[in-house]
Amino acid sequence: MKRIALFPGSFDPFTKGHEDIVLRGLRLFDEVVIGIGNNAIKKRYFPLDVMKEMIEKTFSEQQNVRVITYDDLTAHTARELGATFLLRGLRNTTDFEYENGISQVNRYLYEEIETVFLITSPMLAPISSSIIRDLHRYGQRVDDFLPYSLSELNRLNQEG
Ligand code: ADP
Repeated sequence: MKRIALFPGSFDPFTKGHEDIVLRGLRLFDEVVIGIGNNAIKKRYFPLDVMKEMIEKTFSEQQNVRVITYDDLTAHTARELGATFLLRGLRNTTDFEYENGISQVNRYLYEEIETVFLITSPMLAPISSSIIRDLHRYGQRVDDFLPYSLSELNRLNQEG
């Protein structure tokens, strides 16, 4: 059976920390599906469709990476995809507290699902989407934290 992992997140924006988790996940799974959660209540900073496109470009060389958007419970989305693993990154104890609860609920909703946590690579641990949003909002360069071209992202953003 194909080992499919769903990597769920807001990815607002997708960072080099996220890229690292995907690339390391590919050593464990046959396919990694990056699922951008479309939570109607949470207003995004970077639009969903633009982010999807930038993530697809980031992994254009990897045939076993797919990007989807979803508006449903993560556990139900995983089941529909035939994914029996959830992939998540752990940076610190705050992440752990949060992830611990979510993974229990996901098992409650979908018994066959196993969440696999990868500890962040030390160089990438301080990177968070929320810090990048703050830096970007005030005109600071954030290119070093992103695995794709920010100018292209801005251009697509303006076109859309
Ligand atoms: P969510 O809104 O679901 O927390 P995020 O997009 O913030 O979504 O993060 C998705 C996943 O990526 C989470 O498991 C998070 O802990 C992990 N992650 C975020 N930043 C990093 C990083 N720098 N290194 C490793 N994992 C990270």
